[in-house]
Amino acid sequence: MSTATDKTGGRGNCPTRQRNSVEAAIPPSGTLAPSPNPLSPSRAVCPLCPHACTLAEGRFGVCGAHVARDGDVVADSYGKLTALALDPIEKKPLARFRPGSMILSVGSYGCNLACPFCQNSDIARARGGNGSDGSDTANGNHHASALRFHTYTPPELVETALSLKNRGNIGVAYTYNEPLINYEFVSDTAQLAHEAGLLNVIVTNGYINEGPLAALLPHLDAANIDLKGFTQTFYDRLNAPGGLATAKRSIELAARAIHVEVTTLIIPGLNDSANEIERLAAWLADVNPQIPLHLTRFHPAYRMLNVPPTSRETIHTLIRVASQHLQTVLPGNM
Ligand code: SF4
Repeated sequence: MSTATDKTGGRGNCPTRQRNSVEAAIPPSGTLAPSPNPLSPSRAVCPLCPHACTLAEGRFGVCGAHVARDGDVVADSYGKLTALALDPIEKKPLARFRPGSMILSVGSYGCNLACPFCQNSDIARARGGNGSDGSDTANGNHHASALRFHTYTPPELVETALSLKNRGNIGVAYTYNEPLINYEFVSDTAQLAHEAGLLNVIVTNGYINEGPLAALLPHLDAANIDLKGFTQTFYDRLNAPGGLATAKRSIELAARAIHVEVTTLIIPGLNDSANEIERLAAWLADVNPQIPLHLTRFHPAYRMLNVPPTSRETIHTLIRVASQHLQTVLPGNM
């Protein structure tokens, strides 16, 4: 099992991209029904996130977690957990949701973004398959088969979570790599966890289509959603077409249904201007001024080893800026 940290990014290589509007293809059970692709009927189009990967049989999507098999888009990562730990809820980070409690935190592999500052690149950059099946291992990706993981069914994970209640566990947090690309397992497990009286928390980049997110929200209780910057130019660096608008929509949608907190990793020279953070905070306040905003320090990682850590002074300055609009702005990674 990996010693992953919370909040992450990743990358991949989508063979073909085509916008779709197939959110209705996601039934509440969380299984993915591919949409028909009139241009290439033999290919399955994944309806889960804005990449809308168009997959020939056996090919993996950008995320490295979904693959086309027998005309369907299926989760290669289903139940394969690379990290499992009982953590304080504040570590997710969630500062205003059941403070002082513990939560069983699990991660799998893959990611649908390409953050060069990824804190968990060992699992986020892993791809399913064996290289002969279309999984891309160029550009620093590697095969998930090199990871140590344990396979859990949803009932087994819920049983594990229940067994930890005597240690303060309140439920399951889906985190470490991007959990929404493991949508089917998260959805199946979250429904069972609710039936067992447990809570569900998701820690996500919010890069998901509206329909799948709306279908999942009734099974969730709290979320920490990244707002990685406040320009599409920044999201373009992460291989996230429409990323800013998508993350904003996910925050708005989630905030109407469950407890939401937001995290922005502050990176020197990229998203650390007072103007950008003020605009971000003002927008978030329009959603709800009570949403806590975490401004976290960047530390050199992955492909940004040559960028210095964010100074504490910068974080404190930006907290003052954001606090003009929001009631709770907190430092992270200090
Ligand atoms: S979830 Fe994966 S396969 Fe599906 S559209 Fe997104 S990146 Fe592509």
